[in-house]
Amino acid sequence: MTEQDQPDLTTELIHHAYQAPGGFASPVMPVYKGSTVIFKDVAALRQRDWRSRHGYTYGLHGTPTTFTLEERLCTLEGGQQCVLLPSGLAALANVALAVLKTGDEVLLPDNVYGPNKALTENELAQWGITHQYYDPMNAADLTARLSPRTRLVWLEAPGSVTMEFPDLLGMVQGCRQFAASRTPAAPLILALDNTWGAGLAFKPFDLGVDVSVHALTKYPSGGGDVLMGSVVTRDEALHWRLKATHMRMGWGVAANDCETILRSLPSMALRYQAQDASARHLAQWLGQQPAVVQVLHPALPDSPGHGHWQAVCEPHGGLAAGLFSILLDPSWTEQQVDAFCDALQRFKIGYSWGGPISLVMPYALTGMRHLPTSALKPGHLVRFSVGLEHRADLQADLAQALAVAERAA
Ligand SMILES: *Cc1c(COP(=O)(O)O)cnc(C)c1O
Repeated sequence: MTEQDQPDLTTELIHHAYQAPGGFASPVMPVYKGSTVIFKDVAALRQRDWRSRHGYTYGLHGTPTTFTLEERLCTLEGGQQCVLLPSGLAALANVALAVLKTGDEVLLPDNVYGPNKALTENELAQWGITHQYYDPMNAADLTARLSPRTRLVWLEAPGSVTMEFPDLLGMVQGCRQFAASRTPAAPLILALDNTWGAGLAFKPFDLGVDVSVHALTKYPSGGGDVLMGSVVTRDEALHWRLKATHMRMGWGVAANDCETILRSLPSMALRYQAQDASARHLAQWLGQQPAVVQVLHPALPDSPGHGHWQAVCEPHGGLAAGLFSILLDPSWTEQQVDAFCDALQRFKIGYSWGGPISLVMPYALTGMRHLPTSALKPGHLVRFSVGLEHRADLQADLAQALAVAERAA
């Protein structure tokens, strides 16, 4: 062993004497990295609770960077507790795994985010957890499907791709009434996928949900460069169940990714409003084009569930995400729809939304839905995510692509 005051270079580079002074008063949260956290002595180790946000045990359980992001997301969503996950889909899975057991049933809207259906129909079904899809435009259909085995109800507003805005208030109320009357009393968890509302268009906990899931991949990232999800709650006991599952599954997030979200959060409301304004303008313009048979944008009067959007979002400023779909003339061929998407120059073909680049994606409704979709007119479904480009350039792009598709008939 080397002398205590003369360590070998290899040792010195690890156990270095220099400590940077405190007091670097930047308002920016540093990227704290680390798996190991050093305990000052064994007593400190024994006293530390891995769940507590008043100290640190291991990088996976929390760092100053993750705690800071969690607190800001609680503020955004109006909740009290938060867990961070490596994707929005992992956040959906965390909720299911934490609250469901064999023999339970989960209810999902028929227009729920597609991969949530896949998780339910595969892993959850494999573990003896049953499910039913309910009509997203009919609160009575949801309540009629509740049973003593129902443990979890997913809500999503608006629905993925088809954008119908559900009667959230009626659905929450119906579920609460059922849960209060069932014997033996058993908790019914109401979980909202709040990615579209993003904490800006409405306040999920004011509606009475238990859990708000947010794909931070979308607006909180804003750059199309990070995948992350969050699960926010107000109920402490429910949070500890989520957090325990989160720990046992090893669902940590990378510090650099947290930094990116922390950097993007301050501009999120401005981006959301700008993308909303452009999307609304383009949706209205597309609604006037002869090839478009229906525009699916909850803030537009003819869109399914517009009244429900008004009830929930107008008290908070009447906002909507920069996302909408259209149904193109059913007499168009598949080739024309493809030609339209291919002809777009500014709108790129790709999944996701909320980033700076506008995106387009054609969808086939057949296979996506289990129940009748009476609110939708027949036609070819195409979804747009509006980015931060100038709306005049986007409108010109749509106009030229429609012309190309007409010629492809
Ligand atoms: C994108 C999305 C998710 C999943 O987020 P990922 O980070 O891509 O896994 C979940 N729900 C909704 C509504 C989404 O749009």
